[in-house]
Amino acid sequence: VQANEIPSDALRDEYEQLTEDVRRYRYAYYNEDAPLVSDAEFDRLYRRLEEIEALHPEMVANDSPTQEVGGEVSAAFTPVQHLQRMYSLEDVFSLDELQVWIDRASSSVEKLGRAQDLKWLTEVKIDGLAVNLLYREGELVRAATRGDGHTGEDITHNALTLKDIPRRLKGKNLPAEVEIRGEVFIPSKAFLELNEKMVEAGKAPFANPRNAAAGSLRQKDPALTAQRPLSMFVHGIGAREGLSAGSQSETYTLLQEWGLPTSPYFKVLDSYQEVLEFIQHFGDHRHDLLHEIDGIVVKVDNFGLQRGLGHTSRVPRWAVAYKYPPEEVHTKLLDIQVNV
Ligand code: NAD
Repeated sequence: VQANEIPSDALRDEYEQLTEDVRRYRYAYYNEDAPLVSDAEFDRLYRRLEEIEALHPEMVANDSPTQEVGGEVSAAFTPVQHLQRMYSLEDVFSLDELQVWIDRASSSVEKLGRAQDLKWLTEVKIDGLAVNLLYREGELVRAATRGDGHTGEDITHNALTLKDIPRRLKGKNLPAEVEIRGEVFIPSKAFLELNEKMVEAGKAPFANPRNAAAGSLRQKDPALTAQRPLSMFVHGIGAREGLSAGSQSETYTLLQEWGLPTSPYFKVLDSYQEVLEFIQHFGDHRHDLLHEIDGIVVKVDNFGLQRGLGHTSRVPRWAVAYKYPPEEVHTKLLDIQVNV
């Protein structure tokens, strides 16, 4: 496709088909916890959609899947408004693309005149389900899924069955209000045991830990959630009042003090070279970790810089997800059955 050419009918048809497919696949993945295609295939289609839109910005509809955080609110749950929006992450699929992203972010930081404050908080990308925990004066008020980023699903009763989600935070001087963002997942070892039990009970095993975690948390009956080996790591905050922390990494220290589990797999790094080494290390060890990962997240650590860089309608401009090459592009999805 050439830029600035009038899009052919074939391209318009392809664009419409892609839009429809991406919507359908997102619905199956987020609402039914039952993907119809592999992540690699989904990413390929989504990329193609972005490519066409980049060449023909006039074709981009306001409700294009690229303009919104994927995920809706199922009618089975009470909708809840997040105090601060929850975003997705911009993906890059090669080290060249990552370099371009890092250069762009670095030059934006230089323009803000704050190059000396730039550090990269680098951590693994947990392949789980995003949750938003609202605490007021240290008490859990509610827990919600990400949904479309504005509105999520109320899963408070289910969240309270997780040992990693405290009803009350520890410590003094707790913030008046804080939204804590985390990822709920099933640890790899527990996932294998869970699937063995499913098979022993004559039931179909889960397709992968991510969908098992999502299906387990999004239950109508919290007693069922309680039976599933769900864990959580926190990796960010949203709205806050009465919280003094200057950076994401300082926040992690606070979150630990309050009794919330943070990931053991993160580092604050000074240079792009160190980020590359981190990526290499976890690429080599991705199956030795507590849980599955689908990439590495690189974040600008300083909150002032995060605010300075801002966000688009879908993703922050201060963070990026590097996705490892898929290990098995043709993931077998034939025998998927959802056990929820
Ligand atoms: P994403 O999952 O790629 O990235 C955003 C999310 O990453 C955040 O919401 C956050 O919850 C999570 N995350 C995990 N670890 C994190 C960390 N350390 N720091 C910050 N955030 C962290 O984006 P998305 O928009 O939710 O989903 C897109 C991806 O989901 C696709 O790339 C695809 O792989 C998969 N997907 C697959 C299908 C399918 O049919 N197979 C359909 C839709 C989406």
